Amino acid sequence: MGLREDYLVRAQAHGGLVRAFAIDATGVVSELRRVHNTEPAVTAALGRLATGALLFGSMLKEPEHVVSVRVLGDGPAGTLLATATGRGEVRGLVTHAHTGIEQVKENGKLNVSGVVGSNGRLTVARHLGIRHPYVGVVELVSGEIGEDLAHYLRSSEQTPSAVGLGVFVHRDGNVMAAGGYIVQLLPGVTERTAAEIDEAIRALPHPTSMLRGGDTPELVLSRIFGDDVEVLERRPVRFHCPCSKGRVERALMLLGESELRAIHEKDRAAGFTEVTCEFCTARYELSSAELLVLIAATSASRVA
Ligand code: ZN
Repeated sequence: MGLREDYLVRAQAHGGLVRAFAIDATGVVSELRRVHNTEPAVTAALGRLATGALLFGSMLKEPEHVVSVRVLGDGPAGTLLATATGRGEVRGLVTHAHTGIEQVKENGKLNVSGVVGSNGRLTVARHLGIRHPYVGVVELVSGEIGEDLAHYLRSSEQTPSAVGLGVFVHRDGNVMAAGGYIVQLLPGVTERTAAEIDEAIRALPHPTSMLRGGDTPELVLSRIFGDDVEVLERRPVRFHCPCSKGRVERALMLLGESELRAIHEKDRAAGFTEVTCEFCTARYELSSAELLVLIAATSASRVA
């Protein structure tokens, strides 16, 4: 398993009228699980979201562009957020890594909609290097993530889309497989072609069954399209958090002078302030002196 490399493929079929994406994100989701120490159903929920975010990220035009996908349902996990770049990096977070609810549904599947909730919102924000991101919001359909992302692509972006995402978690909590696919029909696809693709997707095994059986992302797509699929790009994907002490300092400055002074006062006896990155749990220490420099900079920028 350790030798398998995570990657996605971007492809087209039917003369470019169909766009298709497939991914093996087993290592990425294992890392997310390790970083956030999630219970199995939350591992599956966050893993599906991160996998979907990577596929959305592969639709971005530039490597430095970023897409963030946020789900806030009425389930006990709270907010789930995954952020992916156009170069195949993703990070994620969840409010509650442990919910304590039943992890497995009666049908034997992980209780993803139970931890997420089936009422709520899915928000997709694309940061394309301009001042404001493009933001789309839809209501959740089921809280199973894949269906919700498909609903978003259909309703917010007007592109008929099928989304299949899966995370297989071993009884011991380890991630054994994670991945999926997105298939999108562009204007001009005949009804007959659309029906054929629909039938092929309905006949597919579960994404993690295919991956555990040894399918590569390319093989997943050839199960849908046969030989009529042209791979345009093969891109490695990985878990990566770009946080740094500098970014932490800039984030602290956004809190404003009076909030920073309160933190300085609270931590004065300790002599330092500890900040933990919510995405990767990296810890940063700022000395009282460093915090005072930030406070000075904050008050100076307010005057300026
Ligand atoms: Zn981080």
